[in-house]
Amino acid sequence: FATLPDLIRAHALERGDRTAVADAQGSIDYRTLDAMMDRVAAALQRDGVKPGSAVAIVAAPTTDYAAVFLGAVRAGCVATPIAPSATPAAIAAMIADSGAAVVFLDAENAWALKGQQLIASVVLFPRGGGGPDWAPASAGEQAFYRFEDWLAPSNAKPTPVTIAPEDPFNIIYSSGTTGTPKGIVQSHAMRWAHVSRNTAAGFDTAVTMIATPLYSNTTLVSFLPTLGWGGSVVLMGKFDARAYLELAQLYHATHTMLVPVQYQRIMALPDFDDFDLSAFRFKTSTSAPFSAALKADVVARWPGVLVEFYGMTEGGASCALNATANPTKLHTVGQPMPGHEIRLIDDDGVEVAPGEMGEVVGRSPAMMNGYHGRSEATRDAEWHDADGNRYIRHGDVGRFDEDGFLTLMDRKKDLIISGGFNIYPSDLEAVLARHPAVADCAVIGVPSEAWGETPVGFYVPRADAVEDAAIILAWVNGQLGKTQRLSALHIADELPRSAIGKVLKRELRDRLAGAAA
Ligand code: ATP
Ligand code: MG
Repeated sequence: FATLPDLIRAHALERGDRTAVADAQGSIDYRTLDAMMDRVAAALQRDGVKPGSAVAIVAAPTTDYAAVFLGAVRAGCVATPIAPSATPAAIAAMIADSGAAVVFLDAENAWALKGQQLIASVVLFPRGGGGPDWAPASAGEQAFYRFEDWLAPSNAKPTPVTIAPEDPFNIIYSSGTTGTPKGIVQSHAMRWAHVSRNTAAGFDTAVTMIATPLYSNTTLVSFLPTLGWGGSVVLMGKFDARAYLELAQLYHATHTMLVPVQYQRIMALPDFDDFDLSAFRFKTSTSAPFSAALKADVVARWPGVLVEFYGMTEGGASCALNATANPTKLHTVGQPMPGHEIRLIDDDGVEVAPGEMGEVVGRSPAMMNGYHGRSEATRDAEWHDADGNRYIRHGDVGRFDEDGFLTLMDRKKDLIISGGFNIYPSDLEAVLARHPAVADCAVIGVPSEAWGETPVGFYVPRADAVEDAAIILAWVNGQLGKTQRLSALHIADELPRSAIGKVLKRELRDRLAGAAA
């Protein structure tokens, strides 16, 4: 059994001067990455951080970040990348929840966390503007180091540790789109499933552009396979559509993973067609609804194959759509990937008839071990078939067509039940999105005395829009069935989105509740 750090060691020996990771400040080759991982692993061992302990990272993506993540794994520790975009209190809570003994912070996040009580000892990354010279609130008992001082000497070798396939590789906190983030424990075997599954994608010669954060599974499913196969990763800090294209052109990028809102911003640039993107071979997307029109635009104007994945951190990508090869299926998220089984169940947990709508449950080699420290939540997330096989509930509602392609409707929590009818917000959003004055939109259910719930829309107007909300509301309702009609339509400057571009419907609900109070 070869772990990902073992594969990186092999690349360091066989193609040591090939670029492994590049960031805005420079790049490191495989030999350097491998040596840095050794220094990190040896320092963790020196500090008595045991295999199985979490090692937390709250920082912008850099080559150091990659070395700490992978070096911790080499020491048998559990890499725990945490979202800097969360509030300081939420970050401190995630660090505590993971039980991390040590946390790595860059300067910006160290400032942000200044007032927080951190249980872990702190290592500061030196880059990113010098860094503060404060000691964190807990420094009384906890050690506080600078990265350069903390690292083991440059020729250090960690004591080899034995790692079994089912041992934890990382903890990823779920996006928290629908509630509090849950720590999802993924094993080496699961990560291996990701790396090996992508053999056909040509990652061994890839230059993979990454513009999403490293604490998200969305990113790791292209970051880790690229390194596992010996390709090169280009890390972009803050996403900007034009800067992305300039970097991609400069590096002759061949692969990328972007979320739909990033594709939307890139394709909207008036001079998109002037960039030379001819080296691209493989582009992927996941994490949020990707409209058929936008997929068609990417397929038509951006070289290379476009593949959309549908999945969740808990269960891995379970469906894939090769958009380039399936122009008539762009409204779907594709078919289950080899080795993945997907079923649809009703509210009673019974499988629905073919062609019916149901909640997605999936089973695959990429399933999580469970939620960290939450056995009850883990049980609630599981479904078992008649043979007792374990599936993970996805919380999304969908339907298979006659060719076995899955159309996703909505998250189950977002379904609107009005006067006994199920209303799918995505149906209403699709109509709203067709109005020429609408740049972006979302529909949510709000409590109603008469109907239980009633649909309410939000839209972001295009800059050149002339119609007002009342006219658009009348136009939309003219196209909807009687039971589906929006009871109100609000203008928004922008929709609340998570750091990886998911619309946060709970924040829209709070906005309305706040306005009513
Ligand atoms: P939380 O579980 O904390 O509320 P989350 O569900 O957003 O957050 P993730 O595991 O990052 O956390 O996201 C998985 C979800 O993202 C899926 O359940 C689905 O709703 C959505 N999703 C993923 N891929 C796609 C896709 N291709 N099209 C539409 N939605 C997608
Ligand atoms: Mg989820």
